[in-house]
Amino acid sequence: MRKKIVAANWKMNMTQAEAARFIESMLLDLGEITDVEVVIVPPFTAIAKVMEALGRAQNIKVGAQNMYWEKNGPFTGEISGPLLRDLFVHYVVLGHSERRILFGETDEIVNRKVRAAHEATLRPIVCIGETLEQRDMGNVEKILAIQMRGSLAGLNAKELQETVIAYEPVWAIGTGRNATPDQAQEAHAFVRHILGEMADDATAERVRIQYGGSVKPENARELMSQPDIDGALVGGASLDPRSFVQIVKAARER
Ligand code: PEP
Repeated sequence: MRKKIVAANWKMNMTQAEAARFIESMLLDLGEITDVEVVIVPPFTAIAKVMEALGRAQNIKVGAQNMYWEKNGPFTGEISGPLLRDLFVHYVVLGHSERRILFGETDEIVNRKVRAAHEATLRPIVCIGETLEQRDMGNVEKILAIQMRGSLAGLNAKELQETVIAYEPVWAIGTGRNATPDQAQEAHAFVRHILGEMADDATAERVRIQYGGSVKPENARELMSQPDIDGALVGGASLDPRSFVQIVKAARER
């Protein structure tokens, strides 16, 4: 049985004070939660503050939004896996469509980062997803297979199991238009099928695949009740603690 994982991708938002207020409010509303894995992914500048605000709530993990593949050295402006581990970060989001589109990240670049993340004992959340044009042309499976085989190349079965995949159709991110539960389930089942080809069926069954793209309290339950949808990567709705907690609670209901 895969444990659901719900992550808040704050993107380039939240001052330290706002982050601390969010965590305080989230903890009050959420209470003790052990049946869903909750991950907060702040901007680098708020990571330490989030850790401090979480205090004893050690079941809630913290992620970073990006990293570079080198461990250290003359790479001005970059952050490495070991530097993130030094902050007790557990997860790192890699290959988000905003990074692919706005910052030119290719599958090869994402793959270097994914392998470096594993080397640093960080768990990558690897984002994949098609554009609207690619969907309209009937190329969803082709694009997902290319992105998976490229971004996850060279990982062994254990590393694959410790990787989270986020299926995020680009047309659904920040647009208010989510994939229907059927569209999302179809894509997730295909992603699991490719995982089976890349490793084996037992490995594929263990990998958690999140859905991302305009997840809100109103659609979260139906999306996450699909058999291959193992949680959500939430952007906009994760900036409001009440909405985010409602989405986490929706992950408990089947
Ligand atoms: C995201 O950026 O990963 C995302 C899913 O954003 P939103 O929830 O705002 O669509």
